[in-house]
Amino acid sequence: MKIVMLGIMGAGKGTQAKNLSGYLKVPHISTGEIFRIAVEEKTELGLKAQEIMKKGEYVPDDIVTGIVKQRISRDDVDNGYILDGFPRTINQAEELSKIDDLDHVFYITIPDEEVLRRLMGRRSCEVCNAQYNIHLDESGPTCKKCGGKIIMREDDNEETIKIRLKNYLDQTEPLIDYYRKKNILDEIDGNRSIEEVFNSLKELVSSG
Ligand code: AMP
Repeated sequence: MKIVMLGIMGAGKGTQAKNLSGYLKVPHISTGEIFRIAVEEKTELGLKAQEIMKKGEYVPDDIVTGIVKQRISRDDVDNGYILDGFPRTINQAEELSKIDDLDHVFYITIPDEEVLRRLMGRRSCEVCNAQYNIHLDESGPTCKKCGGKIIMREDDNEETIKIRLKNYLDQTEPLIDYYRKKNILDEIDGNRSIEEVFNSLKELVSSG
């Protein structure tokens, strides 16, 4: 089962990709997460990505595509994957289409006014990367799962969000039509509870 999650920042792609990954027992591959780990580990890739991400810009296509190709050539993706945050440009989608046929593209929608509210409420654990949102969870200063420190993403600030939003509209939104034309796009109302959205996704993957 090869799935791509599409949607604006804060739509719930990561949360639902994790849910689907557990349900279908296929890896959740988040390019943003791969970059954040590289930044933390101060690898060559991390050093390159850090400045770009901090500004809210996109990492160049050839770098992202190379990383994804490498990741999906590993044995643990024999039964498929959930891609979250990739592709983000038509060029990336074209590269992906050369290696794999997708089963589903799930486009999660939320109203415009929800984007900023959700992103500003987003928190994560510095240690185990558990995700929280102050609008949904009582997220204290420490992680409920491991006791680690709760932090905000460096790029979840109003100034950077504006740039990320512009890049999304210019470069990523065209993917909706791109996949719609290929007849593999399902649109899911993301302005519901996590459980309700997940139920819709489960129905869609079960119906083939
Ligand atoms: P995300 O966690 O998906 O919001 O990604 C965080 C940041 O990583 C983005 O704002 C980009 O700077 C970078 N990034 C992640 N995936 C991609 C991609 N497919 N293409 C370009 N940049 C990406």
